[in-house]
Amino acid sequence: MSIPPTPFTPDLWVAQSDYFLTNSGIFLSEGQALLIDPCLRRGEIDAIADFVRAQGAVPRWLVLTHSHWDHVLGPERFPGVRTIAQARYPDVVRRDGAAIAAQVVKWEAEAGQTRAGGFSVPLPDETFETEHTLALGRLALRLLHVPGHAPDQLAVYEPVRGCLWSSDILSDVEIPFVSDNLAAFERTLAALDAYDLRLLVPGHGHPSADPAEIQTRLADDRAYLAELRERVARSIERGQTLDRALAACADMRFRLPAENAEPHRLNVESVYWELGGPVDRSQTGWQ
Ligand SMILES: [Zn+2]
Repeated sequence: MSIPPTPFTPDLWVAQSDYFLTNSGIFLSEGQALLIDPCLRRGEIDAIADFVRAQGAVPRWLVLTHSHWDHVLGPERFPGVRTIAQARYPDVVRRDGAAIAAQVVKWEAEAGQTRAGGFSVPLPDETFETEHTLALGRLALRLLHVPGHAPDQLAVYEPVRGCLWSSDILSDVEIPFVSDNLAAFERTLAALDAYDLRLLVPGHGHPSADPAEIQTRLADDRAYLAELRERVARSIERGQTLDRALAACADMRFRLPAENAEPHRLNVESVYWELGGPVDRSQTGWQ
């Protein structure tokens, strides 16, 4: 039983999957819809399509925030709707597409969803490099490249309401997952700090309409990354092994420590490699 999308602003509706609080977005303006990462179970995606139809709207755009498996299931359910992603997305799919598709198939099997034939990761009709504005009715939606969690990650910013669809950053249930690059993640959060942020929807977790709470999420995540960098760098300077670096980061504080212990460990491993620590990248961290 899927829950229908709920209104977050007069222009933006949010549908939340029961799988890991994964959010899908629907911007609506003047009979046009822009869909963000429609996901995740088939019934949930159908509920989004039903909702758009019931609003008398036509889906004009489907935005793919990044190429991780849990964000790419939508396009096959909306044939003919123009898709857009960041310019590095097709490169990632060319390199990792088979592995991403295998994750989809594995999850669907576990979720009891059967599929005739295989899954191939959708490629976008259009891409952009750094920033791109899409007109939707009377809305101007700015797509921003926000790498760090994924090299091809984008965010959607609606400036009139100060509303940011942040994709897989600024979650209230996750710490920053540094599954792409620490330096890029730090630059992304520093850049977002300059935006007027009054409303926030993360890719996983709860939306916030409290500017102070949004600032706290941003500040906490920047502080976490700064401390992670400092502790891992110090370990490397002292010639410490990865195990010693992990021990040196074991008492760091972060949100929901039990749930995020494993992502934190992966972060330490990935950052140890990124900062030049002697380790086989293919055997450690998010890779
Ligand atoms: Zn992701």
